[in-house]
Amino acid sequence: MKTDVLDVKFDGLTMHEALERAEALMDRSEREEGAPAPYIVTPNPEIVWLCRKNPDLARAVSAAALTLPDGIGIIYGAKILKTPLPERVAGFDFAMGLLARLAARGKSVFLLGAKPGVAEMAAEKLLSTHPGLVIAGTQDGYFQEDEPVLEKINVAAPDLLLVCLGAPKQELFMEKNAARLNVGLMIGLGGSLDVLSGTVQRAPEGWRRANLEWLYRLLKQPSRIGRMMRLPLFLLAVLWRRIVKK
Ligand code: UDP
Repeated sequence: MKTDVLDVKFDGLTMHEALERAEALMDRSEREEGAPAPYIVTPNPEIVWLCRKNPDLARAVSAAALTLPDGIGIIYGAKILKTPLPERVAGFDFAMGLLARLAARGKSVFLLGAKPGVAEMAAEKLLSTHPGLVIAGTQDGYFQEDEPVLEKINVAAPDLLLVCLGAPKQELFMEKNAARLNVGLMIGLGGSLDVLSGTVQRAPEGWRRANLEWLYRLLKQPSRIGRMMRLPLFLLAVLWRRIVKK
């Protein structure tokens, strides 16, 4: 069942259910010849807000096989709208869970995105923490043309492609190229390669448990303030939707 938060339709799944679904989606043997590769999006309030302004992004998000609630703001939004979601499925934690499953089965991942050198660093870290994992390839996110990148990914033919180009670039990339990519599954994951590589620190456990990851990121990178202003706008729009819906 889908849960509508300001016209973005979220899948109401627990982390465990989302991982099970992702593994099933990744199975290429079940896919019809020539069918587009499925992809997963992980919108936070900022992305939901962007969808209202950018119809191309809204279309790309709605075409995803799974839409998971990355930010705690989405969970609050769904609650305010009286259609609560079971839990927050943070994109980074979801990807970590999926990579652990891939490692256990000797499957492969391709890391796409971030500044030059970052994906390689992330790959090294992943290999040390997940020895069974196969790194099918890496590519930075500052390429000019899609074509050579698609070719590189298709030669590697990974089970999973992590697309870490930031929003809306990653969602548009996945939608546009899904039919041409020989991959099991793709996930749009923002700045996750920066975190995986150790280039950017994730909020400590205590901050995350207190649902203050957004505040930690703001304090670390005050330049995010402009982007963060979309959070109160998102909440106001949710409150307005609640009043209008009554
Ligand atoms: N990025 C990229 N190509 C671009 C623009 C951005 O690979 O053309 C990368 C950027 O280097 C960063 C990520 O996309 O690693 C976006 O990170 P951000 O923290 O903005 O995303 P969030 O996690 O907040 O969605």
